Amino acid sequence: MAREYSLPNGRIKDKMEEECGVFGIYDPSGRYSVANLTYLGLHALQHRGQESAGICVNNHGEFNLHKGMGLVTNVFDEEKLSSLDEGEMAIGHVRYSTTGASKVVNAQPLLVKSIKGELALAHNGNLVNSGELRANLEYHGSIFHSTLDTEVIAHLVARSFKDDIIEAFTQSLQQIKGAFSIVAMTKNSLIATRDPNGFRPLSLGRLGESYVVASETCAFDIIGAEHFRDIKPGEVVVINKEGIESFRYYEERPYNFCIFEFIYFARPDSIIGDQSVYLARKEMGKQLAREMKIEADLIVPVPSSGVPAALGFSEESGIPYDYGILRNRYVGRTFIQPAQDIRDLKVRIKLNPLKEIIEGKRVILIDDSIVRGTTSKQIIKRIRAAGAKEVHMAITSPPVTHPCYYGLDTSRRQELIAAEKSVAEISEYIGADSLTYLSQEGLLNSIKANGYGFCTACFSGDYPVEVDKVKKEG
Ligand code: SF4
Repeated sequence: MAREYSLPNGRIKDKMEEECGVFGIYDPSGRYSVANLTYLGLHALQHRGQESAGICVNNHGEFNLHKGMGLVTNVFDEEKLSSLDEGEMAIGHVRYSTTGASKVVNAQPLLVKSIKGELALAHNGNLVNSGELRANLEYHGSIFHSTLDTEVIAHLVARSFKDDIIEAFTQSLQQIKGAFSIVAMTKNSLIATRDPNGFRPLSLGRLGESYVVASETCAFDIIGAEHFRDIKPGEVVVINKEGIESFRYYEERPYNFCIFEFIYFARPDSIIGDQSVYLARKEMGKQLAREMKIEADLIVPVPSSGVPAALGFSEESGIPYDYGILRNRYVGRTFIQPAQDIRDLKVRIKLNPLKEIIEGKRVILIDDSIVRGTTSKQIIKRIRAAGAKEVHMAITSPPVTHPCYYGLDTSRRQELIAAEKSVAEISEYIGADSLTYLSQEGLLNSIKANGYGFCTACFSGDYPVEVDKVKKEG
């Protein structure tokens, strides 16, 4: 019997989910509408979070914030955008909640006022010691308005003995642990920083005389900005009328960049560490073809994230590729439904096999990952119903056996099918004729990101940063 998986907040899903996307712009020339460019940047980053969106504009120390629930296009219309007074800088955020409930009080950017001045924060990632820090802050009198990790940072800044807000912010970075790519805004400066492991992406770009910062370079393309470089792990970049300054708040250490950004999350048209995400995915498909020796008639991707890998697989194996499943692009990327029967229906609404392509064929179905297995099971069932003779499942990542505490929502360990079942058992559960996962070595060999090393904890359980008890127990 299909098992029903639900999260503490009642959601049921079968894919890893992104947590957030951040964007920032500093335009001293006044040439651009920073609110409009931030809106466009968030639009490009929408795949990183669909639950809430927000923009905060700074007009010479006057902060103007608007945020709400839903997609960027739901939260902002022309009137709302023009109500954000123009200014010389802005930051924006799209959110998928893994920390804090899905409600507007938890939408970002977070704007706080303390004796040190105003501070706007937009955070992508997950702090692994926020439980301890929050308990300690509350014990000493701090009052929290949200359940966001990000608010912990705001309180640390407010309580810092440093008078200068940038020094106080830097000091707070030394107290937090885990994954954080942050864009922040003070009265005079735009700040961008990344945690010492560099778990989540954050890039710096130029648009004429202006500087832009974004979770992914696809947000630069949409506004015509040029990718300049990635923000380094443990680095703080401060941009203001004096120019751009960079310093480290943490000693240099090896990268532990989230490998799932390459496997699934990041947009294929983004560049990370000089590596095209699209080409890395294609290479994963080629590598998988080298590792998987099965005779078949047709390569079919699970749309749309399986497409680059399927093309690579086809190129390497010589087996023809075709669109055997069509995706309804007007259905969201997540499966958020209250009951099993409705979720199955949603798979049907979202993906439809093409009988004319599949009938009588031995199909290799390519996908990026299996988290709970329920969606794979449905897809295979539908492909068989469309007349496939054999269905072999090929996955461009190793089995996900451990949850993520660094900003991706993989849910709890007991909900991960590979934590409980062997590859043969998973294959049987999803109804495939065979199941092949890409080896970890093959996966790592497929990515040539300059200077990058990778976190692979969800395959191995070797967590690069220790997770506090509160966080582990959810
Ligand atoms: S545990 Fe997995 S999903 Fe989380 S950061 Fe590491 S590689 Fe990414």
